[in-house]
Amino acid sequence: LENQRIEAVNGVQIPQLGFGVYKLTNKGEFETAIREAIRIGYRHFDTAKIYGNEEALGIEIQKSRIPREQFFITSKVWNTDHGYEATKRAFEQTAKKLKVEYLDMYLIHFASPDYMGTWRAMEELYSQGKIKVIGVANFEIQHLEELLKHAKIPPMINQIETHPEFPQNKLHNYLKEHQILHQAWGPLGQGNKTLLAHPELQIIAHAHQKTVAQVILRWHLERGIIVIPKSSNPKRMKENSQIFDFGLNADEMEKISRLNTGKRYAINPTGYIINP
Ligand code: NAD
Repeated sequence: LENQRIEAVNGVQIPQLGFGVYKLTNKGEFETAIREAIRIGYRHFDTAKIYGNEEALGIEIQKSRIPREQFFITSKVWNTDHGYEATKRAFEQTAKKLKVEYLDMYLIHFASPDYMGTWRAMEELYSQGKIKVIGVANFEIQHLEELLKHAKIPPMINQIETHPEFPQNKLHNYLKEHQILHQAWGPLGQGNKTLLAHPELQIIAHAHQKTVAQVILRWHLERGIIVIPKSSNPKRMKENSQIFDFGLNADEMEKISRLNTGKRYAINPTGYIINP
């Protein structure tokens, strides 16, 4: 698998294409999918405590016999583990489940009101070398402003819902200005059929002999975004990885940006505060 790397503000190289494992929880399905993803060449995996599959992912990584350093593993602090002490405990549990000494990336899953204590724990774990990149997910500008005001170490990445129907233009520019990387979850609009069959995208896909999914993922790459599409279908996993051998021109990028409808699939679109 060809991959490109994007540098975080601290110099850590992040593979721009990763593999999301949300909802891959069924036994059997999960193992097969991860094994296949590793076989295809994926090394960057995105999980979270709440996905309930850290342990299974850890087992597959170990079973692969590929050196730990070749993987890039992300997990996230869940809402019920906010605060300094709880986050430190949550990190230890996550690392243990994944069977790793360090995490490549650790994110605050959602901005709940007391995320400053959480962040202090993340800063400390970062300083101890236990996390290579610290960041957040689902943070809006107001959350980032608050965090930037109090943080010793600014967040290095924000993982947010992003796809052509919801391109996050404003937040994208804000992140760029503040040297915070943009990572897209739901990069394919969570497999939305209308998006994946969009006539405009089909025309662009046809011109490049690519699929609509590949065009969408390429659109993210051109914007400097890190993507973590999810699939349990080996053919699609492979398809989603073949996005480094073509480019989109300004006109095509512009056409895709016109698909913005403001439609989002987020669990809680009203401020992203779950269990405040
Ligand atoms: P996605 O946009 O990656 O869509 C996945 C779905 O798209 C698949 O289930 C499949 O139905 C379809 N699909 C995949 N490849 C395809 C292809 N080549 N052609 C046609 N259809 C295809 O959505 P997602 O899974 O929600 O997001 C990806 C990852 O992001 C997750 O697995 C998870 O790791 C992460 N995530 C994070 C958050 C968060 O709050 N931080 C929320 C949701 C997801």
